[in-house]
Amino acid sequence: MTAPEKTARDPHLWVPQRKVEDLEWFREKYAAERDKRLPNTGADTFQAIDFEGKFASFDADPHATGPRTAPPMTADLDMLVIGAGFMGISVGVELKKAGVTDFKILDVAADFGGTWYWNRYPGVRCDVESYVYLPFLEETGYVPTERYTRGSEIFAYCQSLGEQFGLYDHALFQTRVTDMEWDEDTARWTVRTDGGDVFRARFVSTQSGQFSRPQLPGLPGVEKFTGHSFHTSRWDYEYTGGDSAGNLDKLHDKRVAVIGTGATGVQAIPQLAEFAKSVVVFQRTPTQIAPRENAPTDIEWFTSLPEGWHGVRRASFDKCAMDRATADCDVDDGWIKFAKYQLGAIYEAGGVEPTVEQFMDAMERSDYEWNEMLRDRVDSIVTDPAKAEKLKTYYRTMCKRPGFSDDFLPAFNKESVDIVDTATTPIERITENGVVVGDREYEVDLIVYATGFQMGRTWTDKAGYDVAGRSGNRLSKKFADGVSTYHGFLSENFPNLFFLGFTQSTQVSNIANLIDHQARHMVYMVAKCIAEGIRTIEPTPEAEAGWNQTILEHAEMRRDWNTSCTPGQYNNEGRIDDKRSTLVGGLYGPGYEYFDLLRKWREDDQFHGIAVTH
Ligand code: NAP
Repeated sequence: MTAPEKTARDPHLWVPQRKVEDLEWFREKYAAERDKRLPNTGADTFQAIDFEGKFASFDADPHATGPRTAPPMTADLDMLVIGAGFMGISVGVELKKAGVTDFKILDVAADFGGTWYWNRYPGVRCDVESYVYLPFLEETGYVPTERYTRGSEIFAYCQSLGEQFGLYDHALFQTRVTDMEWDEDTARWTVRTDGGDVFRARFVSTQSGQFSRPQLPGLPGVEKFTGHSFHTSRWDYEYTGGDSAGNLDKLHDKRVAVIGTGATGVQAIPQLAEFAKSVVVFQRTPTQIAPRENAPTDIEWFTSLPEGWHGVRRASFDKCAMDRATADCDVDDGWIKFAKYQLGAIYEAGGVEPTVEQFMDAMERSDYEWNEMLRDRVDSIVTDPAKAEKLKTYYRTMCKRPGFSDDFLPAFNKESVDIVDTATTPIERITENGVVVGDREYEVDLIVYATGFQMGRTWTDKAGYDVAGRSGNRLSKKFADGVSTYHGFLSENFPNLFFLGFTQSTQVSNIANLIDHQARHMVYMVAKCIAEGIRTIEPTPEAEAGWNQTILEHAEMRRDWNTSCTPGQYNNEGRIDDKRSTLVGGLYGPGYEYFDLLRKWREDDQFHGIAVTH
């Protein structure tokens, strides 16, 4: 294959300067890159970090100041909320707004924050504009300091939400649910925890957070390494020095290995590169890197935003990032620039009403053009051509989550930073001294696992507990091959238990907006039950089967795309018929279609599809 000819271009321009004519070259190249990864893929090639056992030390909380001090509790509650991340906070706020005050929020962490509690690795920031990412900005009047705020600021904001909305009084931290069981006579869930608590709750909301169970690569020898190692979500600043803003001053004489170059690796590697004696990055699939364009918040602009701006901006972002049918966007970032570029290409090909062929062709062509621009950008920044080549991505843009960074690529210009491509020659094992690839052992003092979180496992694996529903029905059994719900929220034989997150819901770039919609929808149901004396709700078998059918049809619509993509979270690591991953099981389309469906269902106020008992 001969690569298409390149022309000189300005690396800082966002608009691709080259038209792609020969689609075949790209198709073949992308397929070849995907095929390199396929033999070594699937959720089973990772190992879970267990709570007890071989890898338990990787799960230890480096942020808690000590073990839980609260004595074991026994309580009857209207509602138990499992998880104190954005979802738990949003549910707590909405419950209070609805006048429901008899609730508790549980979390394994020692504070609010969820993913932002755990992920304090150096360089951590949100990669969706904070003005659409952070919840309750209008209610709190909070002004994010930057367009892409630091993780420490987001964590502090979560704490301030806990304070402002009086949620700390409802919180029980450092507490892990161990099991849950439905009692038909009292119509309550009995929930037990590792802190010896026993809660009896009318309603329970649970989301086995997408990013709550860290994972290690499925490599032999991880436990044999005699140097230091940790997962990025349990960063050990005792060892590295510094904090999430950097200054890792204890690494000056340390040789560091980083495994993983997803969104986390992209943010942490520049910090390690700046402070460590040497860094070797083990990369299996590169992340697409577009400019970050961070900036301090323009206070004048922010304070001039009209009432209701936040919901409008969030909706606009979702619509513009996912829907190639509009150019009217409030946000203008890398997500939207790409969407707009595609929209322009579609318009050019077929005007306002393109044929399906024109639409598909323009989408594909413009995607290649966009990636050509980003590959050129790698060449213009990374001076060593061999390193640059390894950092170029050859897959369609939304096959993996795009990255935005201004310091990741320049980090590879340091002589002390090396990159090892493990796509063709995978890491073979971890030894007591370091990492083995092919016939070389890379000796290091520290291994940082930036290897992400369990996504492709069953719901109960990720949650870490099982649920016994009506007549002893086990959730581990019901969800063994994927979740089964009505609208993503409720499942037959598990009354009054709400599932939140990516459970047959939808897919969005801004998960915080999904959380907001889900919290409001669920609290509507809970408040209606309490107000109308409804004892139990669960889907009718027909309604649940109907939703499952819809989800299956959407999965089929996505099949060709998923098959063409390199393995990753979005296509269940290339195993598209393994339905365990909740990420591949949502509606295929812009998030607002799902949000509209929920809104209309609430407006009907009939609990359509739900079996109700009084
Ligand atoms: P991730 O996206 O799952 O990335 C894991 C990385 O580990 C990938 O690069 C993967 O390579 C690599 N890996 C796994 N096993 C390997 C092996 N045996 N050898 C070599 N490499 C291996 O995890 P993450 O970066 O922690 O991100 C997790 C989620 O959090 C993502 O959805 C991400 O978007 C989100 N996140 C968001 C932000 C933000 O908003 N700022 C920041 C961080 C993370 P492959 O790609 O080849 O599988």
